[in-house]
Amino acid sequence: MGMLDENRHLEELDKKYIWHPFTQMKEWLDEKPIIISEGRDCFIKDIYGKWYLDGVSSIWVNIHGHRKKEIDNAIKEQIDKISHSTLLGLSNIPVIKLAERLIALINSSLVTRHSSLSKVFYSDNGSTSVEVALKMAFQYWKHKGIDGKHSFLSLRNAYHGDTIGAVSVGGIEIFHKVFSPLLFKSYNAPSPYCYRCEIKLSYPDCKFACLKKMEDILRENSSEIAAVIIEPLVQAAGGIIVSPAGYLKGVRDLCTKYNVLMIADEIATGFGRTGKMFACEHENIIPDIMCLSKGITGGYLPLAVTVTTEEVYNAFLGEFRELKTFFHGHSYTGNPLACAAACACLDIFEKDETLKKLQSKIEVLENWCNEVSSLSHVGEARNKGFMAGIELVRDKQTKEPYAWEEKMGWKVAYHARDNGVFIRPLGNIIVIMPPLTISKENLKQMLKVINDSIIAVT
Ligand code: PMP
Repeated sequence: MGMLDENRHLEELDKKYIWHPFTQMKEWLDEKPIIISEGRDCFIKDIYGKWYLDGVSSIWVNIHGHRKKEIDNAIKEQIDKISHSTLLGLSNIPVIKLAERLIALINSSLVTRHSSLSKVFYSDNGSTSVEVALKMAFQYWKHKGIDGKHSFLSLRNAYHGDTIGAVSVGGIEIFHKVFSPLLFKSYNAPSPYCYRCEIKLSYPDCKFACLKKMEDILRENSSEIAAVIIEPLVQAAGGIIVSPAGYLKGVRDLCTKYNVLMIADEIATGFGRTGKMFACEHENIIPDIMCLSKGITGGYLPLAVTVTTEEVYNAFLGEFRELKTFFHGHSYTGNPLACAAACACLDIFEKDETLKKLQSKIEVLENWCNEVSSLSHVGEARNKGFMAGIELVRDKQTKEPYAWEEKMGWKVAYHARDNGVFIRPLGNIIVIMPPLTISKENLKQMLKVINDSIIAVT
């Protein structure tokens, strides 16, 4: 079979056998799929040899680029020892090393207040780390002898994953509504979405009216609420919604005041995306439970952790017969290959001074956001660190959005793909989240293509 025939065959096989996530397959079947064969630095290559800039870090996971020598080698070295052994009743070397490093990193990054994060519970993807956090918070109160805390408080526009617990605390109608009969109860507070403030006020004159609404819910219902779960600083899948300075700290204070745990879902924001190692650092807060995944392995392998305090951990200690055990764990929990990759990823942060070098690139992105916001169909161009969202609108004055069925975001993304930049939008929002190590030159080139695509399509 010739190369071309082989490629066509792969396309047929994809359509014959694969059901893609978050994809209307009827549309997929009518399109020519992009099949990736290779990657290097911040680029990915398809089977026809076309290279694309990986503008969304392969769904927000890649940190140091593809085929990073140090991570490749760490995985190869670990393969020569063992690829997997269970964490149920056994331990392994990479999980221990990584846990120690994560705790040191978190505690050097976050200023200690009342408590610090000290225990690492492993799982294997973002959604599972959220499930773990929810179950842990729920059971914690039971062990403390406080009954009735059976629900959670989450935000509108929140996204915490696709498993049923994570969907129960999700706030994106289009994804989550259909499952509502299956979900447990969760209280919803306003999203800190200043561009489309649901209370119709503007920051800072609003004096955080959205936090006051959260406080109202907590005042009335904290006896039923185990935890507040929040994506710190950036509601990512909700549309790169950046909360105003002080909001996150306000949430922390409310959790303390009303005796509910705070779960910080740093799955998207963690490992440098916001310009600091963790988003919580920006407001000097420490959650009671923190979820990390995505960038933890530099985008190489599935891995997640749910990190918590001594206080939460200690509540689960008891005699065997007391059944205080945390009955949760997955087959691939604490996979050694993934943990070896994660340790190498952290080494690179130090050795290459990734965060230091990132700062001037954030400036480039921020300046570009300012420029692009003057385009006639850009309602708002916002960023926090190296996460940016360009919100397209039909009418800039009235902020009237394009109907979601128009797929404006997708039209821009397809245009950009034709011009060598791979991006994936969220409705009308163009998401820009390249690997942290993208060169300034490539960053500027990517932004130019996106700029031109917005102009061409809107
Ligand atoms: N939480 C947040 C904030 C996320 O952005 C995501 C994924 N986009 C998840 C949880 C779920 O992670 P996963 O897709 O690995 O299950």
